Amino acid sequence: MRLIFLGPPGAGKGTQATRIVAKHGIPQLSTGDMLRAAVAAGTPVGLKAKAVMDAGGLVSDEIVIGIVADRIEEADAKKGFILDGFPRTLAQAEALDSMLAGKGLKLDKVLELRVDQSKLVDRIVRRAEEAKAAGQPVRKDDDPEVFKTRLEAYNRDTAIVAPYYEKRGQLTPIDGMQPIEQVASAIDQALAG
Ligand code: AMP
Repeated sequence: MRLIFLGPPGAGKGTQATRIVAKHGIPQLSTGDMLRAAVAAGTPVGLKAKAVMDAGGLVSDEIVIGIVADRIEEADAKKGFILDGFPRTLAQAEALDSMLAGKGLKLDKVLELRVDQSKLVDRIVRRAEEAKAAGQPVRKDDDPEVFKTRLEAYNRDTAIVAPYYEKRGQLTPIDGMQPIEQVASAIDQALAG
């Protein structure tokens, strides 16, 4: 099963993707996680990406497309994957199409978590507090001001990605404002259908 998870930052993509991983045994390919790992390891990609990520902007299409192209070649991605945080621009969506077409593969579904953006800043503040309370590191870009910049980037560059898939009849919208368990069952239903 090859899936894409769309939705603004803080919509719950990561939480729901983790559940799908456990249930369906496919890896979660989060470009945010891959970039954070590259930053932590101090790789050339990480060095280029760090400042942009800290400021809440989008890393270049070239870099992100490159890491996804490499990642989907790995053995665990052969049985399928769930893309979380990618594609974030039209150029990335088109690049993914060519990558998959080149391998004779198709996407099964694109799930879009729809949320009320005015509630997202509160959610992100809570996420930062919970991480802190659990003794986990708080993401620098979960600072409320940086978060607003991430939301702006979403509305400017990423919001057009969902209609791209909708036109092809591949998009399933999910109400992301419901409690986590209800969002999870809506996703289960979408994947069963
Ligand atoms: P995320 O964990 O998905 O919220 O991503 C964290 C940050 O990584 C984003 O704010 C961007 O700076 C960068 N990033 C992650 N995925 C992408 C992508 N597909 N295109 C561009 N930048 C990305």
